[in-house]
Amino acid sequence: MELYVLGSGTCIPTVDRGPSGLALSFGPHLILLDGGGGSLRQMPRLGLDFRKVDFQCLTHFHPDHVIDLIPLLFAMNYTVDFTRSDPFHIIGPVGLKIFFEKMRGIFGHWIEAHTYPLSLHEAGNGEIDFQDFSVQTRPMLHSTSSIGFRVNAEGRSIAYSGDTDYCGDIVTLGKEADLLVLECSFPDERKKEGHLTPTLAGRIAREAGAKKLLLTHFYPVFGGHDIRKECGQEFSGEILLAVDGMKLNI
Ligand SMILES: [Zn+2]
Ligand SMILES: [Zn+2]
Repeated sequence: MELYVLGSGTCIPTVDRGPSGLALSFGPHLILLDGGGGSLRQMPRLGLDFRKVDFQCLTHFHPDHVIDLIPLLFAMNYTVDFTRSDPFHIIGPVGLKIFFEKMRGIFGHWIEAHTYPLSLHEAGNGEIDFQDFSVQTRPMLHSTSSIGFRVNAEGRSIAYSGDTDYCGDIVTLGKEADLLVLECSFPDERKKEGHLTPTLAGRIAREAGAKKLLLTHFYPVFGGHDIRKECGQEFSGEILLAVDGMKLNI
């Protein structure tokens, strides 16, 4: 499996970091984990073809995580000869179907699926089995109905928090994962409810027994902080700090 960081930032615009987005590639699949503004544009830069995206996973309905679903659906309709018999799946929190209907109310047929089947899955605490991989979801401690994801494929596993505060469900989701991707919004001394700090992220990775930790979703307040050192006081495994355009083999 290969993981690409499309955006390692937040809702605050900065030169270096776009809003949250990850792309996971394995076998015939290209899975997007969130898709904040600018994620779609990063794909061709990284050699990724948006027409191959067959799953879009959404953790919660904050714009810095979901907004590029609109141009993605639009682009699928404007691509000459784009047809597919396999569905385009969108997996998201409870409220996904209402979210989609409201988008359709505004953007109409421009974002409707005309040349491919569309499948919407509302997920909470559970597991969805597809032919060659599975997706587990658990509720996160952030916004109403927000969820985290774990993808198990090819004997490997990656877990992703989206936005969350410390909770037992993210520890469970990240249990012995080959890669645990956690948000790391604020330094320890500026902790905000509903988000993690380097120390809390390290604690989760240690309790989960994750094999490797990737931190992302950095607010600009991190300038000058030694994130790796703070996190490393809790977690002794490998700690990576996401940057836009990063590629990892899992
Ligand atoms: Zn966020
Ligand atoms: Zn959020």
